[in-house]
Amino acid sequence: MSAITIFCDFDGPIADVSERYYATYRQGLEWVQAQGRLQGQELAIRYLSKSQFWTFKQNRLPDRQIAHWSGLEGAHIDAFLAQVSRIVNHATLLDRDRVQPQARAGLELLHQCGVRVVLVTLRPPDQVMQFLDQHALHWAISDLYGMPRVDAAYQNQASHKIERLRNAIATQQRQGYDLRQSWMIGDTEADIMAGQALGIDTVAVTCGIRSSSYLQGFRPTHLLPDLWTACQKLQQRVTLTQRHLCP
Ligand SMILES: [Mg+2]
Repeated sequence: MSAITIFCDFDGPIADVSERYYATYRQGLEWVQAQGRLQGQELAIRYLSKSQFWTFKQNRLPDRQIAHWSGLEGAHIDAFLAQVSRIVNHATLLDRDRVQPQARAGLELLHQCGVRVVLVTLRPPDQVMQFLDQHALHWAISDLYGMPRVDAAYQNQASHKIERLRNAIATQQRQGYDLRQSWMIGDTEADIMAGQALGIDTVAVTCGIRSSSYLQGFRPTHLLPDLWTACQKLQQRVTLTQRHLCP
């Protein structure tokens, strides 16, 4: 089978989780404030704006520091962090996830070129399938390697990503797919490290939860703004090597 297969992360390149993470942050602070009031304390909470919050996340500032800058101290920070991990995967918050602008157009382009897209994510497969169904995108995905643990995506451990990608590569190879021109596309250091560990080219996209300058330090093969740009680059490559597959 000569079709190109690419491996792609879900949160970041395809799903925009920034609204969910920001809403989780605000709800976490509101909860700590309400708990404080029950104990007769009035906490002086300062809500960061969405863009301040997201800039901090993109530059990998610890959640503890973000909580501190939002006016929390000591035990209130611990209570906030615990509440955030409790609620971040609730259905009402998951509904805030959106398709990244032009990600659909990018996936359509790959589909036309016969490029297979295999998702490698730390999200549970059923959450991903639900999102793809909600946004009518299931046609775009050839296979899916997820993580059963519901809190794994928020933690984003590189070792988990490497494990998932290793499994995905081994299974795709067993099924006879040619992975010589494969890419790993993702928005965090975990994706770059996974691609590098398994010897495939990496594309870091800067539309997700890490900044361009942060990602640059991990030396991805390509550093691009988003999935759409990555898909255009891939289309050029496919057109050069398999002129008959693309219009
Ligand atoms: Mg991601």
